[in-house]
Amino acid sequence: MQQKLLFLFGEFDNQLRKQKCTAGIKECLLRGDWPTAPPMGFDIIKDGGRRRFIVNSKGRLIRKAFEWKARENVTNEVIRERLEFHGLKIKNNQRISEILRNPFYCGMLAHNMLEGKIVKGNQEILISREIFLKVNGKLDQLPRGYNINEENVEIPLKRFLSCDGCGKAMRGYEVKKKRKHYYKCSTKGCNNNKSAEVLNARFVHILKYFEINVAKDLLNLLREQVVATFNQMAIGKKDAYQELSVQHKEILAKIIRLEERFVEEDIERELYRRYRLKYDIEKEEIEKNLLLLSKQVSNLEKVTNIALKFCIELPKKWFFADYHTKQQLQQLLFPSGIFYDKKSDKCRTFKINSVFLYVAYIQQVITKKKSGIPELCLEYSAFSALVAGSRIELPTSGL
Ligand SMILES: [Zn+2]
Repeated sequence: MQQKLLFLFGEFDNQLRKQKCTAGIKECLLRGDWPTAPPMGFDIIKDGGRRRFIVNSKGRLIRKAFEWKARENVTNEVIRERLEFHGLKIKNNQRISEILRNPFYCGMLAHNMLEGKIVKGNQEILISREIFLKVNGKLDQLPRGYNINEENVEIPLKRFLSCDGCGKAMRGYEVKKKRKHYYKCSTKGCNNNKSAEVLNARFVHILKYFEINVAKDLLNLLREQVVATFNQMAIGKKDAYQELSVQHKEILAKIIRLEERFVEEDIERELYRRYRLKYDIEKEEIEKNLLLLSKQVSNLEKVTNIALKFCIELPKKWFFADYHTKQQLQQLLFPSGIFYDKKSDKCRTFKINSVFLYVAYIQQVITKKKSGIPELCLEYSAFSALVAGSRIELPTSGL
């Protein structure tokens, strides 16, 4: 009997606790505080006994996903591929959709316990409400198996090509009667236009210089060369890293000294607070830069491998890719695009991604076919000058 009573009390106690708990959670939500772990993309920091959620590096990539969706209307598959390329693996497209639908990212809270109400949260806002709504409008519009406008595939270089005469981007259009596509300068009266078929074919030719078609043992040699060159270039970054490490030690020492002086009542609370805040901000800045640099240095080899893999059958990959992947590839290789001049019928570029540039260059050195890239008006001497003048850029940046 007594045991049963005890058991009942136990039950009651549990019930009570549960109710208290749910009330607590609801209260917490209404205050704008998320009671459990935040979704992917946020770090938890303690701020005077309160938990705060701030956007971390994954979150910054998720922000990009929202922007890609809003600006380019890309498919979830493309988003998933791009995120993976940047090092963020999402298991499937369904998950991408879930992420893009989660209002937490635009600073709002939705929870069962709020019974349909949406509350403004205290987390850092990852993406504006405007973009969030735009993206979600799109998500709802899109039928399953949504495909990009087929026509675009015929003119993948539009906006990537610029007019060499006036510098404006070139548009793509179709002459329906002839069933032919053209690129055309967007400046009125400039008259710079050219058959899309011809320029697309020329672009494939240009890509061939970046294609790896050497034997396997040569590929390994190539890899070693590229990594070695890049490590050489990374030395400057390592110096910067060491300097930052010293600064980091110094700021930590300053903070300890400040605390000591405060404890010893050398300085007033107000002064302590002011300096503490200043030092903390400095410390955070240094730590942020340290993290950035360490990632860049250790990423080099990984990035080189990705680039080399990319370069195998590059022209074919581009040719058979969908419109968005094509544009992505183009932008990756030639960050400032390609300029076309009607009079001379020539293309040129100002910038080639350094990783790919090296692949093309070292391959020409190894195979002794020192041709440069004549399709881009780069003779071998100009080509190697470009190589010498280039700096490290990870191909993951700017995408
Ligand atoms: Zn023009």
